[in-house]
Amino acid sequence: MVVKRPIGIIGAMESEVEALLSNLQGTRVEEEAGLAFHRGTLEGVQCVIAECGPGKVNAAVCAQIMLLKYKPRLVINVGVAGGVGAQVHVGDLVVAAACVQYDFDTTAMGDPLGTLFIRHHGRDSEDILLLPCCEKAAGVLLEEARSIYGGAHFGVVCTGDAFVADREKGRFLEEKFQAQAVEMEGGAIAQACYMNGVRCAVLRAISDGANDDSPMDFPTFTKMAAEKTTKLLRAALPRL
Ligand code: SAH
Repeated sequence: MVVKRPIGIIGAMESEVEALLSNLQGTRVEEEAGLAFHRGTLEGVQCVIAECGPGKVNAAVCAQIMLLKYKPRLVINVGVAGGVGAQVHVGDLVVAAACVQYDFDTTAMGDPLGTLFIRHHGRDSEDILLLPCCEKAAGVLLEEARSIYGGAHFGVVCTGDAFVADREKGRFLEEKFQAQAVEMEGGAIAQACYMNGVRCAVLRAISDGANDDSPMDFPTFTKMAAEKTTKLLRAALPRL
């Protein structure tokens, strides 16, 4: 019998993973670096689920532990995000085609904003701006989004260590990177996956418009947004 490697699921906050955890069957919990890794089956699929805490370092530490310890075949980052651009509204879903760490900034040395420098032992190091997400997984998430919610946006998700509540910043990210959402973990998880040669997906529901209203909208809409990603992910899991 071929034992399939698990699917890894990472959310930053409790609200983003709690409904997944409460449906996980046969759960075993292990702790590393103070983070809890919950293993079990969800919709008949072997999964490992963790809450990483907000921000890129938390997300990268969690992803790297998950990659080394559980050897997932795919890592999915689920959660809420600020919507960017006139087409993206609170409650909408965004599936990442790629992620950008927009706050990685060596522009003073002439590098384009967001360019990362990745080492490959024995080979040249690599400059990378758009961190890739798995096309097949994104396709499944988009199909399920179409059948459950009538659709989802598909495009660049921008990641940085800031809660964006500034319309101008949102506009800048849209113009510079064609961003559709801004959040604080996806690009870090995508980088960890890229460096380990593992596929990743980023699924976000919009909790706020990354504008002046965000500090109010975020607490108001996060629960609803997280319910949407949970429902979609549960539907998609058997096909991933
Ligand atoms: N003290 C808060 C910190 C949340 S930060 C807490 O832990 O409850 C906001 C979280 O939601 C991040 O994980 C981020 O990925 C996402 N997010 C939602 N809206 C965002 C926005 N407008 N800008 C950046 N991140 C956003």
